[in-house]
Amino acid sequence: MLGGGACLLALLTLIGIPTWAHMIQHHAAKRAPVHETLALTLPPAPKDAARAPAPVWHSIEVQPGQTLSEIFQAQGLSGADLAAVMTNGKDTGALKTLHPGDQVAFLTGAHDQFEGFRYEPDSATQVTLKVAADGKLATHVTTLPTERRIHFAHGVVHGSLFAAGEKAGLSDATVLKLADVFKYDIDFFKDLKPGDHFTVVYDDIYRDGKYAGAGGILAAEFVNAGHRYTAYRFKQSDGSVAYFSQDGRPLRRGLLRAPIAFARVSSHFGLRKDPVLGFTRLHKGIDYAAPTGTPVHAAGDGVITYRGKARGYGNFITIKDSPEYTTAYGHMQRFAPGLHVGSHVTQGEVIGYVGSTGWATGPNLHYEVRVNGKPENPLTMTMPKPQPLSGKAMLAFRAQTAPLVARIQLIDNATQRLARVDNQRTDTITAD
Ligand SMILES: [Zn+2]
Repeated sequence: MLGGGACLLALLTLIGIPTWAHMIQHHAAKRAPVHETLALTLPPAPKDAARAPAPVWHSIEVQPGQTLSEIFQAQGLSGADLAAVMTNGKDTGALKTLHPGDQVAFLTGAHDQFEGFRYEPDSATQVTLKVAADGKLATHVTTLPTERRIHFAHGVVHGSLFAAGEKAGLSDATVLKLADVFKYDIDFFKDLKPGDHFTVVYDDIYRDGKYAGAGGILAAEFVNAGHRYTAYRFKQSDGSVAYFSQDGRPLRRGLLRAPIAFARVSSHFGLRKDPVLGFTRLHKGIDYAAPTGTPVHAAGDGVITYRGKARGYGNFITIKDSPEYTTAYGHMQRFAPGLHVGSHVTQGEVIGYVGSTGWATGPNLHYEVRVNGKPENPLTMTMPKPQPLSGKAMLAFRAQTAPLVARIQLIDNATQRLARVDNQRTDTITAD
């Protein structure tokens, strides 16, 4: 979008502005100035009448396929106006991913001149930019009154999780959040079985009584291959929000098993004939084949202890995740910007991109976990166990989640009764 803006600016400089200038000249030439004296007695003007009419806001609904530069163009505004907005607004990232149906608004003066722009980076925030006396844009951010509505859903998996979610009335955004909550326990691409079922309590955001976006998962239960997993959102005393199982254990693990999404294991941990060196040696990690440029995520929270070239590893990063655990990432095409030795990273943060630097036969990520300096197989090793809540925190957790636990129990009982009725019907049919 920024590229588009720059492009538009160039285009307007080349075509737009001369055209405008031409039009104004043309207009002036056609209308010769006329001087008249009007002999009218006017009633004393009210104080305001002398002022120019106040600028007016008008809303625009984003049409399918429309870009922000097209929207500005349609308003007769210049690329400079767009560039001013993109560089002055807070959360302008939201403007780069506008969706059909989103609303933006323009403030225009008496002579159709640009006076301001308004948009909502999320359903609860409004950013207003107004041309100030110095000609620059002044930003004003307001929190909009929203209302959260709680919903319940129950679904059974027959094909994909998305299909089951849709049947249960969940938006794709909520299905993704559900999968994200359980990602440490369930691999939704490999482990999903027909008959798996879930119950979810979630909320949606409403503004002025109208749906304004997906909220979050408050509680969920997922039965995968007969094993029951639970997740409860809990706001801790320090204000942080995390998911815990019904018995108070954090769902988030110390380390992600795979620091890369949607990738195939191309080489396992263990002894193998090295594809580059040609002799047998220990492969101290897991290789994930993925296209060049695929983001690589930090497997855990930690501090970067190495970032740079390292012979066979190519572009290499090591992260100290705890006194015992270190994770290492090799063959990267490039590093994420702003990272250096000593940087703190959080689990899931992008640290670099898949490449084939060092001794690599193709684009892949070499991922290692070292426990007290000794390489372990990240796919089979025992992950550091998170500590369950205790004491006051556990009491607060029980108090916060009790109504949700009861609600999920109710839904479970009801769906089990329905399932039994279904089974009896099937029995009756087969008995006939
Ligand atoms: Zn490797």
